[in-house]
Amino acid sequence: MRYLFFFLLSLLTTACSLPPAVGGGAVVIDIGHQTTARGAASPDGTINEYEFWCTYAGEVKAAIEAEGYSCVVLNRGLAPDKEPLKAACRAAGVVQLNKPDRGAKRYPSTHYPEHIGCGMVSADRAIDLQARCVVFLHLNSTGRKWVSKAPAGLILCNCKQGRELAGTVCNVLRRKHPNLMHGVKVLPRYIGTQPSAGWLNALDAAGIPAIVFEALYVNYRPHVDYLSREAQARQLARSLAAGVVEWLQMQK
Ligand SMILES: [Zn+2]
Repeated sequence: MRYLFFFLLSLLTTACSLPPAVGGGAVVIDIGHQTTARGAASPDGTINEYEFWCTYAGEVKAAIEAEGYSCVVLNRGLAPDKEPLKAACRAAGVVQLNKPDRGAKRYPSTHYPEHIGCGMVSADRAIDLQARCVVFLHLNSTGRKWVSKAPAGLILCNCKQGRELAGTVCNVLRRKHPNLMHGVKVLPRYIGTQPSAGWLNALDAAGIPAIVFEALYVNYRPHVDYLSREAQARQLARSLAAGVVEWLQMQK
């Protein structure tokens, strides 16, 4: 009887530790950096890529789900262990892939081993989920010092599948944030010419459109000022979601 109890208990805890079941066709949102490697930071240390998107990925997800599309948030690393990021990730239902890498380590895709790249663990999971599309959440930087002139904002995309998604998101961002985003442009990453784009190439091979949000810079003060105000950061997250939703509606 005692053994039966422990057997049932182990079944229950195993079931609880599995990632949530996601139906085919979910929009996948990926927090691009990790708790152990937080990406670019502003020169004054007030903002970094990982913490920003841990805080606001849930807003992107909620805005997509509000339009009737399923959405799952991935993060390659371990769950954050401190508040308030811990609570933010829990609220967003972030699926931790628990495979930290420091950004420089490249893995072959389990689905398309000819494609090798960092970020591959997330790309492979998106392929497992048969994602409708994938949005990798980043902020950009040109260095550790402030720059006085706005650097060119980018929406990167995989070269075969992602152009329409990237173009739609780019247009929506420009429309909703004319002052902040007027110079944002689409930059497809080509197979073979940029080895670091292997993770986007794997998604291309799987027929999944993918974009990388790199439109705002952590070393340009007007962008940091914008991102540092919570209401504006939430608005940005919703605008990004609106771009994805506009593209989803074009697919019907
Ligand atoms: Zn980044």
